[in-house]
Amino acid sequence: MDGLMMDYPLLISTILRRAERVFPEKEIVSRRGDGRIVRITYAELGRRVRRLMNVLVDLGVRPGDRVATFAWNSQRHLELYFAVPMVGAVLHTINIRLPREQIIYIVNHAEDRFVFVDRSLACLFGELQASPGLPSVKAYVMIDEGGAPEPATPPAPAFDYDELLAAASEQAVDPVFDENTAAGLCYTSATTGDPKGVLYSHRSTVLHSLANCMVDGGGMGERETALPVVPMFHVNAWGLPYSCALCGAKLVLPGSGFVGQPLAELIEAERVTCAAGVPTVWNLLYQHLQEKSYDLSSLKTILVGGSAAPRSMIENYAHDFGITVIHAWGMTETSPVGTVSRLKSTAAGWDHERQLELLLTQGLPVPGVEVKIVDAADIELPWDGVQAGELLVRGPWIARAYYNNPAAGGSFTADGWFRTGDIAAIEPLGYVRLTDRKKDLIKRKGEWISSVDMENAVLAHKGVLEAAVVARPDPVCVEVPVCLVVRKNPSATIPPEEILEILARKFAKWQLPKPEDILFVESLPKTSVGKLDKKVIRQTLASRTGG
Ligand code: AMP
Repeated sequence: MDGLMMDYPLLISTILRRAERVFPEKEIVSRRGDGRIVRITYAELGRRVRRLMNVLVDLGVRPGDRVATFAWNSQRHLELYFAVPMVGAVLHTINIRLPREQIIYIVNHAEDRFVFVDRSLACLFGELQASPGLPSVKAYVMIDEGGAPEPATPPAPAFDYDELLAAASEQAVDPVFDENTAAGLCYTSATTGDPKGVLYSHRSTVLHSLANCMVDGGGMGERETALPVVPMFHVNAWGLPYSCALCGAKLVLPGSGFVGQPLAELIEAERVTCAAGVPTVWNLLYQHLQEKSYDLSSLKTILVGGSAAPRSMIENYAHDFGITVIHAWGMTETSPVGTVSRLKSTAAGWDHERQLELLLTQGLPVPGVEVKIVDAADIELPWDGVQAGELLVRGPWIARAYYNNPAAGGSFTADGWFRTGDIAAIEPLGYVRLTDRKKDLIKRKGEWISSVDMENAVLAHKGVLEAAVVARPDPVCVEVPVCLVVRKNPSATIPPEEILEILARKFAKWQLPKPEDILFVESLPKTSVGKLDKKVIRQTLASRTGG
């Protein structure tokens, strides 16, 4: 028997309509390229999005076309987030920090027909158009967020975003289509092989936005003032632009200012209550706050994900500023929010150390996401907090295939789960604790050593700013750990024995690196999304040793 509820399609237009009707007065604040702060309301956003929808149709954008963006966290980028999917096209947010070769690959693979590019970044497209050429791209539209000179090699033909918008009508009817229609395309940051495309639908985007607005999920709500520091070119800024509009939260967009000073200024001036980004960002902000003081009393929560939140980060922000760091896990393939670490009421009476152990895990699966762990033979493992296996996930905002990439089909099981490539144990209380990426584990003879656990242990040393642990091939042990350490004060000496002493508190003797495998370096290479680039670290070590 069929239920008798409305067949109401979950479209991105429903998010915008709610924002403009229910929260017409709430603000979207952006920091422009020239440092100027500009504001619009959700009512104005609605009007500008309708104009942009007309611009897109007049340019010749058809349903299903891929429309790329190459831009910072800006107001005009936000307008594209709505207008492109609302005309039935697919918003392809290109990561501006990818190597040139990967950008060429991605644009060609997605067959982008239009590219909306920030004027400060447009030069690259002029160069790529000259060689090797981007045959699918029909035209470029320049977004001007202030402060950028004319590009030396402009792409062509190119239109001006503001001129197009000024000439367009504000009248537009939101088309209605199947909620499973593709809405957004993001490519994985590919630490091995070519990037893979993940194609979000309207339905998955709306459901994911709802999960971000649950108190036990992302926790977004009308009373929040949100600052997404995670780039809008990386997994849709973790879905925050959509969830903020859905619940009417004030949204603060930092432009290209992803580092300490502009962030601290924005938090203070706009009374930000909740900010989100990768650990590197919060490390840099913390360093800046040691040098200059700001009024950060409005900031209650920092959402951290993308790589593990170190214990020191959670403790320092809580102790020095009264800010709760919430640890979350996700992937491009999971839209991205999969798990969020909030303390259960069950643990309310626990002592501080035990509570911290839970908060340091990647957290509980958010409602809508199911998780399990399996061994090498795909047999499900118990949730005993000890046994670790590959983490598999499923749910309405988890990818079921990669875009146009049948060769990558192995990531999806026949019975509908996605293989994350992450190794995890799950606590009896349901908290997922990642131990490593499958490919980053150190496989010493038959035993595994978690590089992430070892990094976190090293970070407990007061003089250590960053640490990376990678495998080095070894003729006897197969692989052994090498530990690279960046000191807070580069001229201070840290004897390797001190690092070993800290490690010995957590690791068995056979797991420890040799003293000569503790290396002090000036900095560590990062990927395009600010994570440790272990592939480059391994390559550099191999070329040093000739291995
Ligand atoms: P990306 O698709 O670029 O967002 O990368 C996803 C990967 O980042 C995951 O598979 C994890 O390996 C890693 N990751 C994401 N969040 C966390 C976290 N909270 N702790 C540890 N690793 C994480």
